[in-house]
Amino acid sequence: MTITRLTFSGAGIERMAELRQLPEALAAAFAETETRFLPVWQSRCLVRDGFVADCRREELELVATGHETMVFLGRRAGRALFAVGLRGEAPPGGLPGATFLGLREIASQVSEPDAALLAYARAMILWQERHRHCGVCGAPNQPAEGGFVMACSDESCAQRCFPRIDPAVIVLVHRGEQCLLGRQASWAEGRFSTIAGFVEPGETLEEAVIREVREETDIVVADAVYLASQPWPFPSALMLGFHAEARSSDIRLNDGELIEARWLSRADIIAGRVSLPPPISIAFRLIESWFDQVPGPGLASLVADRAGAESRRA
Ligand SMILES: [Zn+2]
Repeated sequence: MTITRLTFSGAGIERMAELRQLPEALAAAFAETETRFLPVWQSRCLVRDGFVADCRREELELVATGHETMVFLGRRAGRALFAVGLRGEAPPGGLPGATFLGLREIASQVSEPDAALLAYARAMILWQERHRHCGVCGAPNQPAEGGFVMACSDESCAQRCFPRIDPAVIVLVHRGEQCLLGRQASWAEGRFSTIAGFVEPGETLEEAVIREVREETDIVVADAVYLASQPWPFPSALMLGFHAEARSSDIRLNDGELIEARWLSRADIIAGRVSLPPPISIAFRLIESWFDQVPGPGLASLVADRAGAESRRA
């Protein structure tokens, strides 16, 4: 039971962290004619004809406005890549055929490696933008080490902070022929997904799985098995995906995070009794890796057939 090829993973980039502490090497990489720039504006990335709009230097000058921040992302196919954070209220124009789009939209338009690359670029720019001031003394921070450090400008403080990710567990709970899915109040009617929540200080991932399932549904689980992880850059989560076996079956919604939770069989899912999370999410892939354990059509093909039927009806 494995999960591979998750959306927002597999950017195919060599990060070359060793260059971050070598200003001359970074400047040389920046100056190469083959170097490309990935503009990020208000959490949106630039896309052109279904591809990452990786701008040449002269193209960047067409879209770049005002003060920019810069992050050295690494090299892909030998070519140095920098993310560029653009300021301003109005979307920067100037590049024919290119549009700034949100990541969820982008994920359905570009290749998986490109979606992963843009998620990485956006996450770095967003982190810099949210750490403009020192969390210890409040003085302005300055980017350092290729953009991977935000350093306090007050020398007596000299606090340094590093790109932040927020670990969250996400778990498909199963019991015999059924799995446990829940629905948050803000979701569309009928939409159900796996149980998830942020890891708290002082607990292991396995403890977080047990706690989250108990808090949200009162179900007792054991034997949490790790399957896969997915960067979920909305804005900075890392989803850590598990399967876990339930040792109880009576659902009670304890913490108000869910408005409904249900045990669902494969037959319920085949019959379309609930709508599932989008296939780009690890939530879907966790459900799929449970569902596909019995012979028959896989969940991905079922969902694709249903989507096809709906678009023909529309
Ligand atoms: Zn400080």
